[in-house]
Amino acid sequence: MNILNYISGKFVEPESGEWLEDLSPATGEKIALIPKSNHHDINKAVDAARKALPAWSSLTNLDRASWLNKIADKLESKYEEIAELESKDTGKPISLAREVDAYRSVKNFRFFAEMIRDIGVEKYEMEDATNRVIYKPVGVGALITPWNLPLYLLSWKVAPAIGMGNTVVCKPSEMTPLTADLLMKTIDEIGLPKGVVNLVHGDGIGAGSPLVSHQDVSLVSFTGGTSTGSIVAKSAASSFKKLSLELGGKNSSIIFDDCDLKNTVKGVVRSGFLNQGQVCLCGSRILVQEDIYDEFIDKFIIEVEAMKIGDPSDENTNLGALISPEHLSKVEEYIEIAKSEGGTILTGGYPSLSEKYKNGNWISPTVIADLDVDSRCSTEEIFGPVVTIHKFSTENEAIDIANNTRYGLAGSIWTSDLEKGNRVAESIHTGMIWINTWLHRDLRVPFGGVKDSGVGREGGKWSLSFFSEAMNICTKNK
Ligand code: NDP
Repeated sequence: MNILNYISGKFVEPESGEWLEDLSPATGEKIALIPKSNHHDINKAVDAARKALPAWSSLTNLDRASWLNKIADKLESKYEEIAELESKDTGKPISLAREVDAYRSVKNFRFFAEMIRDIGVEKYEMEDATNRVIYKPVGVGALITPWNLPLYLLSWKVAPAIGMGNTVVCKPSEMTPLTADLLMKTIDEIGLPKGVVNLVHGDGIGAGSPLVSHQDVSLVSFTGGTSTGSIVAKSAASSFKKLSLELGGKNSSIIFDDCDLKNTVKGVVRSGFLNQGQVCLCGSRILVQEDIYDEFIDKFIIEVEAMKIGDPSDENTNLGALISPEHLSKVEEYIEIAKSEGGTILTGGYPSLSEKYKNGNWISPTVIADLDVDSRCSTEEIFGPVVTIHKFSTENEAIDIANNTRYGLAGSIWTSDLEKGNRVAESIHTGMIWINTWLHRDLRVPFGGVKDSGVGREGGKWSLSFFSEAMNICTKNK
């Protein structure tokens, strides 16, 4: 299976004639070849997006909303295919790919269609004048996405970007190209004007970097790791591109002794290990109040060990494979670091799987106790199925531990005292926090992080604002 770039409404091979292998995380087998694109492909794609901009941006919001709905309808008809491709490409369980990835990819297009349809007239009256604010497209957008939630995150950017009248060039992760390709085929099938959405496959250096630095790109929406985000920010800053960075996280789950323990254990297992812990929002540092520390650990370990690891296509599987051998090595290295830092592995190791999976990237969910709250495993992003557990006594101590990391993306608080929950939430330096739940998403609310977790917000009206330029027109009346 060869996947192609999509430029100006055509599926094309890379200029270099070179290809990269897309491997199955579960078995290590080759799934597809993808273009190893370079700046020549990027130049063509940006040129196509630039040429498509005048006609596309002159459509009404209603027209563009209707295109988004057409994409959503067509994607919805491929719901099962999205789930299957995503599960195959990422190694995640099929049930998760269906419930989260396929569901949200369709929903993102519908949601932004609705939002764009509802954009009204914004006026600010003065005694002698009227201000009218309009939202114009920014220009050509570069949309760069990671491998953990491939179509979910790509559609989260494409929908508001083109909905607000921009044209785009997408660069998905080289490790998960399948559903990005499916989106291009879908866009092609519904006849979206050529050049509005272009997609160039390849690695970060060859394709991502020339895209970000391209002089005709006016906006960069990047989701990925913090160190890559820093490179992207430097490159975009010199030409004043509009920039949104959704980066890494090290999120705390704070568990007070007055929580509903049964629901908390379930919620914290989910937040620690969903998608093998490869969600930027995962709660990988678990802070437990001292009175229930031992009881929580006993119940937590039972629940963690009950998760079924293995064949991603099996409906009963809870945990699949990690994305790549390199990522598995990184996770293993952190477990070794934890041991050298005095950590106790409460559960972990490797699952015993059939011969078919011997070359896949497998590791069991790992729970580590007795680490210092300043230790590397407790403060650095591991992005795998590894959590550390720590004891705290007071509210302030929990807040201090939670804030003791360079990241500031998300977190969760578990308590029956909602006043305390809200008080603690306000003291945590993150962009988002949940109380007695996790990953409960309303697409209208702001999404993003502080500190090294990012710059800017996406979601709802924040996405519309990021993917547009507000302009004020002041008319003197008297
Ligand atoms: P990376 O930063 O490695 O890659 C993200 C994307 O950037 C990929 O498409 C990558 O291409 C591309 N890229 C790499 N180098 C460059 C460059 N110099 N210029 C432009 N683009 C480049 O992240 P991962 O894919 O490993 O994703 C995991 C990270 O993403 C975690 O840190 C996680 O926390 C974060 N994340 C954040 C989210 C948020 O909303 N805050 C949501 C999801 C994930 P390629 O991989 O093909 O080389």
